Amino acid sequence: MPGTLFLVSTPIGNLDDITLRAVSTLRQVAVIACEDTRHSRKLLDHLEISTPLLSCHEHNEVGRSQQLVERLLAGDSVALISDAGTPLVSDPGFRLVEAAIAVSIPVVPIPGPSAAVAALSASGLPTDAFRFAGFLPAKRTQRLKQLELLLEVEETIVFYEAPHRILDSLADIEQVLGAERPVVVARELTKLHEEFLRGTASQVHALLSARPAIKGEITLIIGKMGKMAKRTPSAGEVDLASEVDHLQSGGMPRMDAIKEVARRYNLGKRDVYKRLTPEGI
Ligand code: SAM
Repeated sequence: MPGTLFLVSTPIGNLDDITLRAVSTLRQVAVIACEDTRHSRKLLDHLEISTPLLSCHEHNEVGRSQQLVERLLAGDSVALISDAGTPLVSDPGFRLVEAAIAVSIPVVPIPGPSAAVAALSASGLPTDAFRFAGFLPAKRTQRLKQLELLLEVEETIVFYEAPHRILDSLADIEQVLGAERPVVVARELTKLHEEFLRGTASQVHALLSARPAIKGEITLIIGKMGKMAKRTPSAGEVDLASEVDHLQSGGMPRMDAIKEVARRYNLGKRDVYKRLTPEGI
């Protein structure tokens, strides 16, 4: 008889958020596969669990999966945990689960915390249909492309985001999905400084921009477009010359106005310049 592969959710901050079933499973298995043994040892010490730990992270998951499947086939049960939350949700484990299922090893989830669901549940945004979209790309061009793909999505969208990228991402959301899009930033869930910032993309952006520093773990949620809300139009849909004129009439030098319009619509300065001068003169 093969052993069972248990996928055990662990706390995302508050150590009390561990289920009784998670504790008994972690006690009973032969080995616990985890991302970082030092990190997980702290949780296990807190729970007085002495089961051996084995690292299984994105850099060794392929080889480790083979070893773990062999142990499972030999009859050992294995628990997989991640640093926090539910394994496989923007965390390692997919290859192991795939390999286990391929040889008919039972795979059993032990459900518990996940930042995405915790944030969504208290966001105040519709929960009838939602899309989990993982992390937005770190590079701006890719991030803008990814956001453009979401323009037609009619569901609430949940992202994980790093604190040092949240302002850039909010600015891009404003640009692509519209300044009026409902947005919720859920920060430090289950921890001492838990907070929810709710508003439009531009309001939440302004709130966070005013802070001297943004720290902690963040889950970002984007609501569906309200009936009255308008997205920022794309460069092809606007009269760039009028926008440049408008900025100039407010006292901005011409080259600065061109630069600003280029930034707004993610164009090069030369592209804007060409569109201002008929036949590219
Ligand atoms: N598997 C985990 C889960 O189920 O929640 C998520 C792992 S992912 C690598 C880590 C990201 O989740 C963080 O960068 C952050 O975006 C989000 N996150 C984790 N803990 C959080 C918390 N306490 N509050 C808000 N977001 C959190």
